[in-house]
Amino acid sequence: MSPRKVLPGVVSLYRERLVPLWERYHTPRTVNDALACLARYEGRARLVAGGTDLLIDMQHVEKGEHPLAALVDVTSVSEMTSISESHDWLHVGAAVTHTSIVNSSIVERYATCLVESCGVVGGLQVRNVATLGGNVAHALPAGDGTTSLVALGAEAEVAWHNGIREWLPVTQMFRGPGISALDSRQDVLVGFRFRSSRDGEASAFKRIMRPQGVALPILGCAVWVQLDESHQVLKDLRICISPVERVPVLAAAVEDSLRGQIISDALIRKVASAARDQLGPRASKYRSSAAYRSHMIETLLNQVLPLAIARARSGVARAEGVGLG
Ligand SMILES: Cc1cc2nc3c(=O)[nH]c(=O)nc-3n(C[C@H](O)[C@H](O)[C@H](O)COP(=O)(O)OP(=O)(O)OC[C@H]3O[C@@H](n4cnc5c(N)ncnc54)[C@H](O)[C@@H]3O)c2cc1C
Repeated sequence: MSPRKVLPGVVSLYRERLVPLWERYHTPRTVNDALACLARYEGRARLVAGGTDLLIDMQHVEKGEHPLAALVDVTSVSEMTSISESHDWLHVGAAVTHTSIVNSSIVERYATCLVESCGVVGGLQVRNVATLGGNVAHALPAGDGTTSLVALGAEAEVAWHNGIREWLPVTQMFRGPGISALDSRQDVLVGFRFRSSRDGEASAFKRIMRPQGVALPILGCAVWVQLDESHQVLKDLRICISPVERVPVLAAAVEDSLRGQIISDALIRKVASAARDQLGPRASKYRSSAAYRSHMIETLLNQVLPLAIARARSGVARAEGVGLG
């Protein structure tokens, strides 16, 4: 074999095996310690949780680029790894794994769609380490956990490097595909909160995925509904279908066609059919044409809306399809 053919292999082996991707590894116990640790490295360190997205990104480090000076691992920060309920709010730490969400009976009862979306992320090994915060911070518009958080009307808590700590609508965390409002070299996404479903409220999530697909779905759909006292009228609802735009968004036009309406199969069919033309999803090179996604919008809405409504009427919410990924 000519040296020209051997060399790229050696370079790649050297980069993969011998050159570290980072130099130091820190495991702070508090959000403030994590912020202080990031600040010390002045942009040369990066926050890590499960590492399932980050390590893949880091393996694509260009030749000659310096490794990170440090990784700051937030999975030992207790306020970021817990799920709790207070008054009407459910809090889920950003470093809570998809598996912990799937195993949480509180989340299943009060935010069923989140269990259904986290329950199909990757395979079991990925779900055991990958976190909800990583899903949001990675900022892909089709992230499964993200889609349900948007439908739940969730808020995200961010500890910014300038010392401000604030709650923002989760939709404000996205600037474009893969571009977060956060800079993971200096800011920390602490957690999420959303109102737990009450009587007459429920949620559901389903997605379309290639059988051999490993990362993101062709299309995901999460719905949260609130029925009136008679359980015949859709008093309020939120629908997130992703990816449609460059960032995850609510399907406001579809919601408007349903809000305040008397529930019927015919209404759902009509609105689901109209949604195909209203939403205009993006095409993706590897996953789907825009036309196929449009078609699947109707299919998903015809499944997910009736499921959420049935749960709201019965008051019984058992997550479906979890662990099939
Ligand atoms: C085989 C495989 C299958 C997958 N399948 C799916 C799938 O079906 N659906 C899906 O949605 N995703 C999927 N993913 C993507 C990934 O697993 C998820 O997005 C996961 O939730 C990322 O979480 P993490 O903790 O591993 O993030 P990490 O890789 O640790 O971090 C991701 C990014 O977010 C930043 N970050 C992480 N946590 C924080 C924080 N608290 N504050 C600030 N910044 C932070 C990191 O710096 C990094 O930039 C898959 C990945 C793999 C490898």
